[in-house]
Amino acid sequence: MIVQDPVCGRHIDLDEVYASEEHEGWEYFFCSAVCHRRFRLEPAAFASSPKPKNQHSTEKKAS
Ligand SMILES: [Zn+2]
Repeated sequence: MIVQDPVCGRHIDLDEVYASEEHEGWEYFFCSAVCHRRFRLEPAAFASSPKPKNQHSTEKKAS
């Protein structure tokens, strides 16, 4: 099974996963201690759970 490291975006085999972390009910896999640590420091920055987009940012420049 191939999983994706959310930090570096690399696809890794489950056999080569360095670490895993659960966040908001999802399990994330990491290729190295560096990626794992970066995720734990700021999981929200890397976690991409399929949430519906409620925020609608409309920045229109009126010229
Ligand atoms: Zn990585």
